[in-house]
Amino acid sequence: MFGQLSERFESALRRLSGESHLSEANVREAMEDVRTALLEADVHYDVVASFCERVQQEALGEAVLKAVKPGEQMIKIVNDELVRLLGGDEALEAGEEAVDPSQAPPPIMEVVPGPTVVMMSGLQGSGKTTTCGKLAAYYKKRGKKVLLAAADLQRPAAVTQLRVLADQVQNDVEGAGSVACYAEPEKVAEYGKAVGAAVTVCKNALARAKRDEVDILILDTAGRLHVNAELMGELRQVAGAVTPHQILLVIDAMTGQDAVNSAKAFDEQLEIDGVVLTKYDSDTRGGAALSVRQVTGRPIKFVGVGEKLDALEAFHPTRVAGRILGMGDVVSLVEKAQEQVSEEEALALQEKMAKGQMTMDDFLGQLRAIRRMGSFKSLLGMLPGVGQAIKDLPIEEKQIDRTEAIIQSMNREERKGRAALDNSRRRRISRGSGTQAEDVSQLVKGFEMVSQMGKAMSGMGMLSKAKSMAG
Ligand code: GDP
Repeated sequence: MFGQLSERFESALRRLSGESHLSEANVREAMEDVRTALLEADVHYDVVASFCERVQQEALGEAVLKAVKPGEQMIKIVNDELVRLLGGDEALEAGEEAVDPSQAPPPIMEVVPGPTVVMMSGLQGSGKTTTCGKLAAYYKKRGKKVLLAAADLQRPAAVTQLRVLADQVQNDVEGAGSVACYAEPEKVAEYGKAVGAAVTVCKNALARAKRDEVDILILDTAGRLHVNAELMGELRQVAGAVTPHQILLVIDAMTGQDAVNSAKAFDEQLEIDGVVLTKYDSDTRGGAALSVRQVTGRPIKFVGVGEKLDALEAFHPTRVAGRILGMGDVVSLVEKAQEQVSEEEALALQEKMAKGQMTMDDFLGQLRAIRRMGSFKSLLGMLPGVGQAIKDLPIEEKQIDRTEAIIQSMNREERKGRAALDNSRRRRISRGSGTQAEDVSQLVKGFEMVSQMGKAMSGMGMLSKAKSMAG
């Protein structure tokens, strides 16, 4: 997703970041590239026009033209506008800690007792029934008791499909909650003849949900190939009869602007609360994701990222914007680093390093922190200059234990890192710690490299820079 858009954005902005100051001409030129990139990504024309207008206006403001680093300012403006376009990060604005989307509480889907009624709507083939199953799985994992109601009576197979999904979630998805299905298959025959068969199913399902003290009732309603009056009439009747807390519209990202147009039509007739964008995994351009909020005024709440039951994610505009601009990973990396080292610790160490006073024990502490960041070693490697230096650091658990043993076998001066270790001392230390002389040499080398890097980094103000990025 967003691959090509991301490349085009990056190259347009990279050109500006080389400029020592911005002129109206080169801002306009970069905005032309941004405009083309958005149109090629199939973003709605009006959305592109207003996006470019806003960015350009801000970029040409006094503050930016006179800024010390106009390129960076420009990236910030584009980033903020992208976040806005994608809906603002409502989960974060609500004060939720959404560091890992899979762990984050669902944005805005407040679960109230008695139960929370979620009505799912959408055109046929959009992925509505599958999404009902995924939502059930999402809440089962979070300890909720879920009832799925089979109110799509138009497509006979839909009732069976929902029952099968409910069984799958109940049996295969781990979690403290539970999932069951309410269905009245005989109503399928009534559909189209008797008015309100689906309404009856929904009302009965609600009664069952109350009786069984269910937390969340999810209604799978009928779809059609296209938006039409009959469908909207039925959905309005259902909504009127059970007054859902949330009406979610499921749209297929792969259908691009058609999805956005149908979202607009649904919202005009049904007043939806939010959108679930399915097949996000297969959409290479991203036009629907970037248009839906502005065209409908409704936020994307979840995205479907595959056919499996766990392929549903809460949608976080700030992270998506970061990914489009190619800076998401660094921000997550710094966040992750901050989780491992407190601000006071970092500042104290920074000062020591700047003065060349880092000790072997500090070094060991650093190795442990990098170790706790786990796979982030590979990300650290992406930072210019750092990758090379940390490539050979001993950060596997066993190596860290060995490093600790070596440091413990050193005398006080050696532990401060200021006494030179000749061969005989290296041999003594390796014997004392049950390691090889090469292990001691490797540790000394790593220590020296990190001390030097620390001095250089504090000279460049890299630590405070990284912090302000995460800030
Ligand atoms: P409905 O008619 O709206 O109920 O659509 P279905 O739930 O039956 O889904 C239609 C097809 O889309 C099925 O083959 C699903 O497996 C597939 N599908 C649904 N959501 C996703 C998704 O997020 N990603 C992908 N790749 N396929 C999906």
